[in-house]
Amino acid sequence: MKRGRFAPTPSGEMHLGNAKIALLAWLQIRSERGEFILRIEDIDTQRSRPDIAERIPEDLRWLGLDWDFGPGADDGLGPYSQSLRLAYYEDALTRLKETGRLYPCYCSRAELLSMAGAPHGLASEGAPYAGTCRHLDPEQRKAREKHKSPSLRFAIEAEPIRFVDGIAGPQSFPPGSGGDFVVRRADGLFSYQLAVTVDDALMGVTDVLRGGDLLDSTPRQLELYRALGYAAPAFSHAPLLLGEDGRRLAKRHGDLSISSLRAKGMHPESIIGWLAKISGLIDRYEPVAAKELIRNFSMERIAKHPYYLSEQDLEFLASA
Ligand code: GLU
Repeated sequence: MKRGRFAPTPSGEMHLGNAKIALLAWLQIRSERGEFILRIEDIDTQRSRPDIAERIPEDLRWLGLDWDFGPGADDGLGPYSQSLRLAYYEDALTRLKETGRLYPCYCSRAELLSMAGAPHGLASEGAPYAGTCRHLDPEQRKAREKHKSPSLRFAIEAEPIRFVDGIAGPQSFPPGSGGDFVVRRADGLFSYQLAVTVDDALMGVTDVLRGGDLLDSTPRQLELYRALGYAAPAFSHAPLLLGEDGRRLAKRHGDLSISSLRAKGMHPESIIGWLAKISGLIDRYEPVAAKELIRNFSMERIAKHPYYLSEQDLEFLASA
């Protein structure tokens, strides 16, 4: 049985862009009678806001998107909030250490920034790591340890990574793309790459559908799946909804949060219909309930290009 998930980070209000991804991930699984998970990615406790973590389930429910397992609805593969899963990440870290592929990195933020501009960086995470700390000897490590507590990096293999994305099609990343990456930060926090891989594997996720901004994180996660001995899920990356200026949705594009559209009197069917239209699922805009989209859904229909908000869209969204 297919198992999919929506995995929001509760650092900002859920907006139309997040809702687009949630709708598509939900439709992928519901159209195959699979199980859908809501996972709250609150591992970064500094950035996460409990009030938003509470509002996300409300927003989803209001939009007509449900889930089988999530915070408060555990089937034994949870808990479904990352802040409650640290023991699993610790265990994975221990296993990665045993592979001999982790090393301490003492580079400062300034040093890392000065690596900017090198080829094969990740759009989602910036310039690749140059490998500076990979070959330090024990003496050098001891000396640097005195001044800075290290992050832990995972040494990637010098092989190209290929996979077929369910929306974006065949992908090929050159050897060393993105460079060795952090699995535990210097402040002790586990990285997104580690947590998301461990969670998807242990929660039995077979199909990951998420925003296209994470496409270039996938090679890293595939390397972690391999190193940890887990089978990787199928990945699909849906194009983002962007502002008319081509930038990611943010406050400057107006308040496009689900809760404020709701407060303005907009109906969930209007939002779902609009999202379905801009995602290529229906040809003409009409209000529609999410569950009515299940029958005709197919991955092939999903529009392959980012959608830029137009003046007309903004008028429509303001007209509620
Ligand atoms: N938590 C991530 C976000 O909100 C998504 C992670 C994922 O889907 O892999 O952007």
